[in-house]
Amino acid sequence: MNSETKLYTQGLEKYPKTTIIFGNLLMIVWIILGTIACRFLCSLAAWLYLAFAIIMVYIVLRKLICTDCCYYDKWCPIGWSKLSALFFKKGSVKKFGTNIGVKLAPFTYGVLSLIPLIFIIASMFQKFTISKLIVLVLLLVISFYSGGIGRKKSCAKCKMRLICPGCAVKPPSDA
Ligand code: SF4
Repeated sequence: MNSETKLYTQGLEKYPKTTIIFGNLLMIVWIILGTIACRFLCSLAAWLYLAFAIIMVYIVLRKLICTDCCYYDKWCPIGWSKLSALFFKKGSVKKFGTNIGVKLAPFTYGVLSLIPLIFIIASMFQKFTISKLIVLVLLLVISFYSGGIGRKKSCAKCKMRLICPGCAVKPPSDA
């Protein structure tokens, strides 16, 4: 059996535009809040965080992951396969499970989640303000939603869920 035949056939051919728009808005808000959180302690760190987020999320991971995804040039859960197809050539779905981008993604999102939390908490020890508390709470809410409920909802209907190492839901019983 090759990887093509392991696609989850009941998965969506394309995701609704509302899901894609919501996912992108959430990601943009998350990156902005992360940058603000770093800025509370150090302006340079904020710029480095913003640059890292943009380069990794919108360029490096799109090249490494989306080119080998079955949704390449289609409306995937967050629409980034369309973005990838604008700049990069199609790869092979067979390589998806072992490609370096799939291993790099948890590291990238881990850094993007943890660094702002460390910076904002450190800045709160220097000087506590309500605005810092609001940014911290929003960051935690978005992180938990994106990494939990939101991700599970996307993965459950994804054609890649049987071969994706990052899938957040268990394989269906009929797989
Ligand atoms: S299974 Fe989940 S993590 Fe993997 S490609 Fe699909 S939506 Fe993304």
